[in-house]
Amino acid sequence: MQSLKFDNRFVRELPGDADGSPQVRQVFGACFSPVLPTPVAAPRLLAWSREVAEALDLTPEDVRSPEFAAVFGGNALLEGMQPYAACYGGHQFGNWAGQLGDGRAITLGEAVNARGERWELQLKGAGPTPYSRSADGRAVLRSSIREFLCSEAMHHLGVPTTRALCLVGTGERVVRDMFYDGNARAEPGAVVCRVAPSFIRFGNFEIFAARGETDVLERLVDFTISRDFPWIEGEPVERRRQWFVEVCERTAVMVAHWMRVGFVHGVMNTDNMSVLGLTIDYGPYGWIDNYDPNWTPNTTDAGSRRYRFGAQAQIAHWNLACLANAIHPVIGEVEPLKHGLARFADTFVAENARMWAEKLGLQRLTAEDSAAIDRLQGLLARGEVDMTIFFRELACLDIGAPTVGVVREAFYTDEGFERHGEALGEWLEEYAARVREEDMPIEARVARMNAANPRFVLRNYLAQEAIDAAEQGDMGPTEELLDVMRRPYDEQPGREHYAARRPDWARQKAGCSMLSCSS
Ligand code: AMP
Ligand code: MG
Ligand code: MG
Repeated sequence: MQSLKFDNRFVRELPGDADGSPQVRQVFGACFSPVLPTPVAAPRLLAWSREVAEALDLTPEDVRSPEFAAVFGGNALLEGMQPYAACYGGHQFGNWAGQLGDGRAITLGEAVNARGERWELQLKGAGPTPYSRSADGRAVLRSSIREFLCSEAMHHLGVPTTRALCLVGTGERVVRDMFYDGNARAEPGAVVCRVAPSFIRFGNFEIFAARGETDVLERLVDFTISRDFPWIEGEPVERRRQWFVEVCERTAVMVAHWMRVGFVHGVMNTDNMSVLGLTIDYGPYGWIDNYDPNWTPNTTDAGSRRYRFGAQAQIAHWNLACLANAIHPVIGEVEPLKHGLARFADTFVAENARMWAEKLGLQRLTAEDSAAIDRLQGLLARGEVDMTIFFRELACLDIGAPTVGVVREAFYTDEGFERHGEALGEWLEEYAARVREEDMPIEARVARMNAANPRFVLRNYLAQEAIDAAEQGDMGPTEELLDVMRRPYDEQPGREHYAARRPDWARQKAGCSMLSCSS
């Protein structure tokens, strides 16, 4: 792995924790604590992403070497690595939670590839840090496979996201409460190496604001701009203002993509919001099967459903307001922050409209189209219609003679079809008339729709099937699922079953659609 070159600006340019102990504690005046991964019993490479390896200039031989599993399991360091856990706070479920920090994630360093791109390598599940609080710093195979597969699936779907290089089994067992039955169970442990230009979260800024450590806050803001937003120029305060606007815009684009593909993050606490507008922290996330704006996969949130599918834009805005509050001391005025928040709303509305136009194969949306979209969403919800199948099949509608039969297989129940099929048929007739009006060539329209409406998404039960096999020692299904998700917009003959409706058995089964925060 000679090719990996490190240039660790985060530890070089920002204040670190002088106390080098891994003891759990409050860490003041520092952006990070140096800490080493805790070695594991028997690191073994279980899966890897060839695209991420390529981005890091790693060859397949590098990846298959014993050294690779040792490094990415946490048992060895490469020259130039300087491991640390970041200090951050956050608002969890709407309440300030104080110091959180990387409790089980350890950054190894900032790799710079041959093209000059900077990629932070971070192990998740690498053992305790000063931020582990009462937990063990480890991750189970189940949640690690979910993070590994979903990061890569999201990337291939065109959604801004952190990436995953590899998944390494630890040869150790980890005890967790299994979902909501509360029974402790020992499960195989694993470490994922996540990769992103930066893992800085809203919470990294909030902690210093909450503690009144304005000098560190200012250094972190200016560092983030110079390392991760180098195109923003001007006087320091003006740069910071522009930076906040850009964070707002990027967050809006990210959430609009989530809504387009039916992704529910599940735990949008401010410590799980990247300032780069990347989807980060794949925990109790889920994918919409039957279209339901009220759905959340997170059992911990089943009561208030704060992080439900349909609330994600509103929550992102709330989170950005927390960030605005946090950085106010280094911005000086309220107006520029309000402007950023307004840019969030405008960008989300514009991006969402653009993506709906693509999903429906229209050039652009009119006010009547927006009303029609609202009606469609109600129909899909009431009729229990599969989101992914519906939009994909919609491209096959004969706009000269539309019939609801085209989307029949998207209905989960006969009853849903009997009660709502006719109304959906009427909607399709109006839609077909609207499409005829635009007069777009059919090939162009279908291509436009199929580029926005995936055939394949990482349905919860598919990930669970891969996990069940992996727990029995078979990584084949994980590899195959990763491969399916490499081309989510293409028809893949022989793999149609990956695009099918969620089967009945998976509906309420733990792990298949519902997860807790503590995975
Ligand atoms: P999350 O809800 O996954 O975003 O985690 C919230 C906080 O809990 C973060 O500070 C995590 O680092 C920490 N955390 C979650 N799981 C563990 C674990 N197994 N060991 C140590 N810290 C953890
Ligand atoms: Mg987190
Ligand atoms: Mg997490």
